[in-house]
Amino acid sequence: MSLAPQHAIIHNNVTEALKKGFEKNWYILGEDLKTFETDYARFTNVRHCLGVGNGYDALSISLQACNVRAGDEVIVPAHTYVATWLAVSKCGAVIVPVEPDPSSMLINVERIEEKITAKTKVILPVHLYGHPCDMTKIQGIASRHSATIIEDNAQAHGAKWNERRTGSFGAINATSFYPTKNLGALGDGGAITTDSDEIADFVRQYRNYGFERKNYCEVEGINSRLDELQASVLSIKLKCLDQWNHERRELADQYIKRLYSVGDIQLPLPRKEALPVYHLFVIRSTKRDMLKAYLDSCQIDTMVHYPLPPHLQKPYASLNLQRGSLPLTEDIAHTCLSLPLWPGMTTSQIDRVCDCIVRFFSR
Ligand SMILES: *Cc1c(COP(=O)(O)O)cnc(C)c1O
Repeated sequence: MSLAPQHAIIHNNVTEALKKGFEKNWYILGEDLKTFETDYARFTNVRHCLGVGNGYDALSISLQACNVRAGDEVIVPAHTYVATWLAVSKCGAVIVPVEPDPSSMLINVERIEEKITAKTKVILPVHLYGHPCDMTKIQGIASRHSATIIEDNAQAHGAKWNERRTGSFGAINATSFYPTKNLGALGDGGAITTDSDEIADFVRQYRNYGFERKNYCEVEGINSRLDELQASVLSIKLKCLDQWNHERRELADQYIKRLYSVGDIQLPLPRKEALPVYHLFVIRSTKRDMLKAYLDSCQIDTMVHYPLPPHLQKPYASLNLQRGSLPLTEDIAHTCLSLPLWPGMTTSQIDRVCDCIVRFFSR
């Protein structure tokens, strides 16, 4: 992963914005945040965007906004970044994991309904690796069972399902601007998107100590704000996001063409309703560890997202989800490999990665 090509394009605009931001003597909840919120709401095609401190907070605040309380059940993908689970369990809700569809690695929408009970409050799909979940089916399930949808859109800024942006389907949606995300800040950042005026009002207070006006709390809020400097940088990067996502798709297409039917590789092929944004390009192979070592020896950096599934992490020992209890999720952890992909990566760099992979499987 290299940010250099992206940073080269925006270098002058960003340094100028940072200089202005430094000199204006207003660092929190100011005009730059308002501008970014307006820009990102328009980009996502929702009425409201509220900047917050990071993606985890965006999820936590979303759960509060939906009144999720101890004992309520929240349906989450078993295969996701652990932050999704941490936000849910921290608010006292019961985690109800659903196994992935092995080919898309996204929550298996056919297996959601069997997990729904009278206590199900929220369905929390994650558009993992930049691939949109089947929101048509998820919306159907949620409305049949009066559950609320909260999207975790941290990996999918700009993706579309049926021509509609992810982050616009749920009652409230969370995203992260961690530096390596498709839209990344120069530090921590996050946001909430929603069409509801009421939810937007709640979040606006909740992220700022619950203040209804300065020093007067309406609710028991927290401090989680997106600062002015980050907002000004994000506004600049947002202008490039569609182009950068387009480049990611072109690079991904090149991988797909070259790696089709190489060895036992399973490729991340998008559904026809989906416009993915390839936050990561994740393949699967039963020879993952050997392939990774071979690519290392060719000076090609790959990563594993993620080596240990949430249910096997120490904080979740009490859930009694032993090894073997979520076999499809565990299998992905053993077989997945993220190949290098970033905007500005060259086609000859992709070729070099593919050459090495082909050589590995023909040995
Ligand atoms: C990055 C990420 C988060 C958390 O975002 P932070 O800004 O790091 O707190 C949550 N969910 C998913 C799927 C993520 O990729």
